[in-house]
Amino acid sequence: MKTLGIVNQKGGVGKTTTAINLAAYLAAGGRRVLLIDMDPQGNASSGLGLRGVEAGLYEALGSPERTADLIVGTGQERLSVLPATPDLAGAGVELADEPYALHAVLEQLSDFDVAIIDAPPSLGPLTINVLAAADALLIPLQAEYYALEGLAGLTETVDRVRAALNPRLKVLGVAITMFDGRTNLAQEVEQSVRQHFGELVFWSVIPRNVRLSEAPSFAKAINQFAPLSSGAAAYKRLAEEVMQRVEKI
Ligand code: ADP
Ligand code: MG
Repeated sequence: MKTLGIVNQKGGVGKTTTAINLAAYLAAGGRRVLLIDMDPQGNASSGLGLRGVEAGLYEALGSPERTADLIVGTGQERLSVLPATPDLAGAGVELADEPYALHAVLEQLSDFDVAIIDAPPSLGPLTINVLAAADALLIPLQAEYYALEGLAGLTETVDRVRAALNPRLKVLGVAITMFDGRTNLAQEVEQSVRQHFGELVFWSVIPRNVRLSEAPSFAKAINQFAPLSSGAAAYKRLAEEVMQRVEKI
């Protein structure tokens, strides 16, 4: 199993949208996928229809041997979720001295090809747990003026975790999200991101597409909600690029 963390300490950059739709297209492409919701807000869980679940990742972090019983199916074949519950907010404190709690949960899994972890918008203990457990990271960057700002903090944290906790941690790539091709600004941002990160940047750029923002309220990923939308096409291509890169690690 390969484990991919979706991280960026900024909120609203498209982490959860990317986690859900990437997971959905990897599953559609034949992989057995587990989406792990590491954000106490639970948007990845609710976006796939899991609201008000009684137990989930929080319980698994406390008792990893319970993990298999806490995983739930979705409306899509081969796509399962380890959901967040509001308790997870408290885990931020409890996990401060336990960077390998999520790693221990992942060690319980045997029936999946890929685990996609949706990280919260911070560099706190929950995200440190994601970095300590992941094989690779996908960093979504919103195509806006301040896209690169704050990334130094993420890069430093990744380097620190690699040195201290997880030597195999790689950055799989950077995905440009919410791209509005009608504006010069978006194109300038894309150029500067490509200059800065070179080949790390995925070719598939995710457009701003209202169908992507509507899908969660219908509890569906974009491949089932609006498969012909521009957002769907972009996430399908991104999933193909991700799989090509994942197979090399
Ligand atoms: P994060 O998880 O980084 O906080 P989200 O994925 O929740 O970011 O996205 C923030 C908001 O932007 C959500 O309301 C989401 O539906 C919307 N959104 C994300 N990506 C797109 C997109 N490509 N086009 C339009 N809306 C988007
Ligand atoms: Mg989110």
